[in-house]
Amino acid sequence: MTDYLRPDSLEDALRARDEHPDWLLLAGGTDVMVGFAEKPAPSGVIDVFGLPGLCGVSREPDGTIRIGAATTYADILRSPIVQSDLPALAACVREIGAVQIQARGTLGGNVGTSSPVGDTLPVLLALDARLELASARARREMAYPDFLVGYRKTALAPTEIVAAVRFPVVPGRVQHWRKVGTRKAQAISKVMFAGSASLSPEGKILSPRIALGAVADRPIRVLAAESVLEGQSPSEPLADRARDAVISAIRPITDVRSTAEYRSTVAGNLVRRFVLGLGDAPKA
Ligand SMILES: Cc1cc2nc3c(=O)[nH]c(=O)nc-3n(C[C@H](O)[C@H](O)[C@H](O)COP(=O)(O)OP(=O)(O)OC[C@H]3O[C@@H](n4cnc5c(N)ncnc54)[C@H](O)[C@@H]3O)c2cc1C
Repeated sequence: MTDYLRPDSLEDALRARDEHPDWLLLAGGTDVMVGFAEKPAPSGVIDVFGLPGLCGVSREPDGTIRIGAATTYADILRSPIVQSDLPALAACVREIGAVQIQARGTLGGNVGTSSPVGDTLPVLLALDARLELASARARREMAYPDFLVGYRKTALAPTEIVAAVRFPVVPGRVQHWRKVGTRKAQAISKVMFAGSASLSPEGKILSPRIALGAVADRPIRVLAAESVLEGQSPSEPLADRARDAVISAIRPITDVRSTAEYRSTVAGNLVRRFVLGLGDAPKA
């Protein structure tokens, strides 16, 4: 028999997690319910779907945008704050699964599963997201890259949950998202790219972020390509150099969805196109 708890508050959820760190933390269930009947049953379930303390999009006093971990993709898409200030996240979420998955799937679930093909994860990297991690005893904040420690492995402690994702707002920053999959809806990605950059009044690229998914054991930033771009003006030769830097830096695998060669070529081309697009973006 599996025990089932549905806490009424974040505090109750954290207490339950503290008492039962081995129980399954359930949000929308769109990852954990796949093949559930074939997996060993968990000794208990803590269900946080719709938990008020974990849901919602808000603009915080420090200017960051905070998205509660149990906020569904549908609610993220409906948020005017996300539409106006996080267009890369809005574009990404619009392409996740189909409407049924968007109605149940949550940002915290994507972060919790930490799959190399989790679509929102490169966006978190490209937009310098930070995670709020909470336990019954303490709260801490962590830069998102530090959370990713291996293939589907994260820095989350057994008694913690992801409470929220925070995004800094950088006025004028260009944001870009592109998912390449077999078809438009329900496709698991072959390659995902999220990029961001600011442009100086002279059109120089500042603080570029080049983030990719499905090309390594976890979502990654390609620092070598970012260094190529920093302080430069967008041009065809620069775009070629950034593409080459990406192709040299990544070591994707061949699997059922794609070949390593295809992933490398496509990743390089997506970055090249992003750099060329910066030439048309509004300057600061
Ligand atoms: C048909 C189908 C299509 C899909 N399409 C896509 C797609 O296009 N792109 C994509 O990226 N994914 C896709 N997915 C995968 C899935 O929908 C997403 O990963 C989703 O974000 C999972 O969220 P959830 O709330 O359902 O998580 P759950 O299944 O409830 O949980 C997933 C994992 O995260 C953990 N978790 C949940 N919330 C928290 C929290 N607050 N703190 C810590 N850990 C937590 C759980 O314990 C579990 O280990 C698809 C799945 C299906 C079935």
